[in-house]
Amino acid sequence: MRRMDGVVRSGLWAVTLLAAALALPASGDPPVSAGGDAGTEIAEPSEIESKLKLKISKRESKHFKLYTFVDAEAAKELMKLAEQTYSEFMALMEMPANTVMFSEKVEIIMFREPRNHQQWVQQLSGYTGQKLDQAMKVSGDISYSNNRWEAWQGQFSERWPKDVVVHHTVHMLTGKYSGLASSQMKGWMYEAMAYWFSLRLSGTCEQYCVTQAKEGASVMKALKGGVADWKKTVKEQVAQKKDPKMEAMLQSGLNEMSEREMMKGWSVIDWMAVEKKKQLAAFFKAIRPNKAKLDLNALMVEHFGSCDELQKDWASWVLKNY
Ligand SMILES: [Zn+2]
Repeated sequence: MRRMDGVVRSGLWAVTLLAAALALPASGDPPVSAGGDAGTEIAEPSEIESKLKLKISKRESKHFKLYTFVDAEAAKELMKLAEQTYSEFMALMEMPANTVMFSEKVEIIMFREPRNHQQWVQQLSGYTGQKLDQAMKVSGDISYSNNRWEAWQGQFSERWPKDVVVHHTVHMLTGKYSGLASSQMKGWMYEAMAYWFSLRLSGTCEQYCVTQAKEGASVMKALKGGVADWKKTVKEQVAQKKDPKMEAMLQSGLNEMSEREMMKGWSVIDWMAVEKKKQLAAFFKAIRPNKAKLDLNALMVEHFGSCDELQKDWASWVLKNY
């Protein structure tokens, strides 16, 4: 199974399905209940219905247009979740709740079957050439230029719709807010943000946009409770001084992280969101104005101190809080 970011990446992202649902929030704070704006049903027929002859649920809210295979009631919940993701993201970035991030509403298009997605790609996506070829093979395309993301459930679990709505909405927001394409971000910034939000808002952590470069799927599979055990694993690694080097983790690109590094990345975001809130917001805010000569390392040091300091502070928090 593969997915891709069609605008900025020519390579494909392999996806590993993470099987376990997570019961606990990723931070010390309780998870926020799904309380975003549910929007309204879209009355006019969409091309997905008229051209592809598919029955779908359609909703429109302040920031999103949703076209999904789930039933009307479930679509309402997804819409609330997307809006909640939006407002929670703004809150984490310490931005006003009414900040307008997208010039047009973000379109969320979700299919159950890969073949329906392929029909959509061929007939309605507007993709051509290499982009068309790639889109035919993957799920989870995030199009910054079209303010749109689309994906199919396939063999993913029933929990997938909620998980993916949070996960990909965070990707859209992180990209838009920072002004960076996914390939310009480090893995921990891009993926860990998405996992932190999906764990917090949907209670799941099932999406994997990246290939674990160094250890395959072994560590995740070895976790008895699936990824639900990641905090325990991270803590054990710290206690036994076996955790991956902070510097290597922070430097790794999307497809360069090991699973242990990914888990560490989730934890570092978790720690920042709880203990270093101001710095985290300031760090992300500083990216766009510095885009022309972006030095993420320098920005990290400026906001969080040296790698050694970061490791020390984070590790002691992990030992105390996990
Ligand atoms: Zn992702």
